[in-house]
Amino acid sequence: MTLLRRHLGAAFLLLCAAALPVFAPPSDAAAPGAPRVSDIRAWTNEIYTRVAIDTVEDVSWQANTLRADPSRGLPPRIFIDIRGAGIRDEILRRPVEVRNGLLRQVRAGRFDRDTVRVVIDLERESTYRVFALPGPFRIIVDIDGEGEIPAIPASPDPAVPPDDVAAASPPEDPGPPVVTTTSAPPPAPSAATAVHRVPAAIPPSMESPRVAVSPPSPVRKHRVRVMIDPGHGGKDPGAIGPTGLKEKDVVLAIGRKVREMLSRTGEFDVRMTRDEDVFIPLEERTAMANKGRADIFVSLHINASRNRRAEGFSTYVLSRGASNREDLELAARENGVPVGKLQGVKFIIDDMFTGARKNESLRLAKTVNDAVVRHVSHRYRGVHSLGLKQAPFYVLVGARMTAVLVEASFISNAREESRLRDPSCLDGIADGVVEAIRYYGQNGILAHSDF
Ligand SMILES: [Zn+2]
Repeated sequence: MTLLRRHLGAAFLLLCAAALPVFAPPSDAAAPGAPRVSDIRAWTNEIYTRVAIDTVEDVSWQANTLRADPSRGLPPRIFIDIRGAGIRDEILRRPVEVRNGLLRQVRAGRFDRDTVRVVIDLERESTYRVFALPGPFRIIVDIDGEGEIPAIPASPDPAVPPDDVAAASPPEDPGPPVVTTTSAPPPAPSAATAVHRVPAAIPPSMESPRVAVSPPSPVRKHRVRVMIDPGHGGKDPGAIGPTGLKEKDVVLAIGRKVREMLSRTGEFDVRMTRDEDVFIPLEERTAMANKGRADIFVSLHINASRNRRAEGFSTYVLSRGASNREDLELAARENGVPVGKLQGVKFIIDDMFTGARKNESLRLAKTVNDAVVRHVSHRYRGVHSLGLKQAPFYVLVGARMTAVLVEASFISNAREESRLRDPSCLDGIADGVVEAIRYYGQNGILAHSDF
């Protein structure tokens, strides 16, 4: 039972309902024009490795595992079957080499006429989580375990022949599937619902003695690490105000102020996901925070609404759903997906990470919002607080630390937009964020947030 529970704890599933068709019967879906696997990316860090599989359109997929097969020299594998899809030839020819002691490589091939199979060759057994994010669609696989940051290999090993994938053993008995019952509501039965049930990654008999998560260290041995995430950037301007002010520019200015002020205290190790006008995918921002083993992740945004009178400051933590239509529309906009697509997504969030951080995130979010409103109120009259809120922001999914998202007033409101042009207002917002982080750090709330 202990083993079973451990596996359940490590299972992190995203159920994609509306976005995904059920597996279609074999057809000519892989014909030219079918959705294609367009890229495979991997990030390595000390605690896990994240693999992203990009596809040109939404696809139907299923994850599973294969045991090591010493007789054929095959390591333990995780594989993702993508139905009705094609694949770029360059990806077929070039496996993504990782070789960090945890993950050997990621390769892909045509498993059959209708299925692309992406195979993750592991160096050793590990637990993993898999989920999908729409807009653009990508499948994310997080493999737990300490990886070494690899040097760039001098030359990749000879590519595994593409037909190795096709020849790879068909899904031999991957062990008894674990019935994933969790607190999340079951998806409504629907013809358009595909549920990707991931069995325990490795049968108990093969499990590494290492548990996916180390027990928390009782004493902090480092300065509090803060990752500031100015939202949007590059091709993504974020929301735009009535006179043309762009969210991406405002939040970058605030982020730089926060970094400068926090660094000056000498109490914090502060980093930013971006320090220039560049586009960074949402999931990469979270991966950067995890990689840097940040204790606190603060994503900075400016709100917007079709209602030009909407105003005020709010700070969010991650949740599966939104409490009202406005919050759902906000999360959809920040996630870069239509509202309908967001409503079709249900999370089953890993209790070991997000659950453990939820209370601390709620506390920090309230502290941040109160402090920001107070500091801006010193400079302006009529500053409104919308308070602490919750919504399904993708940029917070998978964050392994206390994580909040600030919506610092409405750029769509003419009065608030003009405030946001005033450096004094940005100083006030930054003062509030800094004060809250200092309070949070100094009060020992983070004493147990080491990985
Ligand atoms: Zn934003």
